[in-house]
Amino acid sequence: MILECLPRLEKSDIVGRERAYQRRLPGLDATTSGTTGTPLALRRSVGSVLVEEAWISHHRGWAGHRPGDVTAVMRGEVVADATDAAAYRYVPARRTLLLSSYHVSERAVAGYLDALRTHRVKWLAAYPSSIASLTAVALARGLALPPLTAIFTSSETLAPQTREAIESAWGCRIWDHYGHAERTVAAMECEERRYHLVPGYGIVEQVDDGLLTTNLTNSLMPLLRYRVTDTVEGWDTGRCACGRAGRHFATVAGRMEDVVIGEGGRRIGRLDFVFKGVEGVLAGQIC
Ligand SMILES: [Zn+2]
Repeated sequence: MILECLPRLEKSDIVGRERAYQRRLPGLDATTSGTTGTPLALRRSVGSVLVEEAWISHHRGWAGHRPGDVTAVMRGEVVADATDAAAYRYVPARRTLLLSSYHVSERAVAGYLDALRTHRVKWLAAYPSSIASLTAVALARGLALPPLTAIFTSSETLAPQTREAIESAWGCRIWDHYGHAERTVAAMECEERRYHLVPGYGIVEQVDDGLLTTNLTNSLMPLLRYRVTDTVEGWDTGRCACGRAGRHFATVAGRMEDVVIGEGGRRIGRLDFVFKGVEGVLAGQIC
């Protein structure tokens, strides 16, 4: 394959030279989370953003979710004027209940649960660390959780014990999505708990130290043979028991998140946000 003639591309090859990998046509800027200490500046075409949203919507449809269904989102979005008494905000135009990832504490947790009940939320999209914190604090306080139909997770590795605890507490299953801010690989978990590579999204090569991934959707930053360091196991090319064709895998391990316990018992994960938008910082590490 011609692709194999091309060199591997490492993140360290790009950092500081991002513009050399980008086309400066109309599009959207983004960054990686910076959990390795060095965020990557990204540029996405409008088309690639729409494709991403379409696949996410498609995946949620596997669980029965439909566009327009009221959905709670707990994925690090800033909730304006959030307090311990109200760490959430309902956005009618989006039919979305925003839940702060940064205010989960014993004092605040009842408010989160009340908001879910008030808005009759049946679907929740969350960082695993965020919903894990909310679940742990609610259970520790002996609070009853409102029943959900499904929980959608992505952006972090979902440890088996975390998944089990969340699914048991909320009485529903998790549908996990695997992807990266660089958007060179994406996979969606099916009914059989297998991760299906999203067709047409990119080319994925298995190597000993991760995956070599080639983007096929983003014309403004088309990374070729870009190495991601996640460990993906249990590949299969046969038809999955769910009926879908294409390559699929069993597990992925990579990005694990810790939680910092702050004043008042507040649990804060995904600390990469502290570096975002700060001028003059070349690299940072939280450890
Ligand atoms: Zn399947």
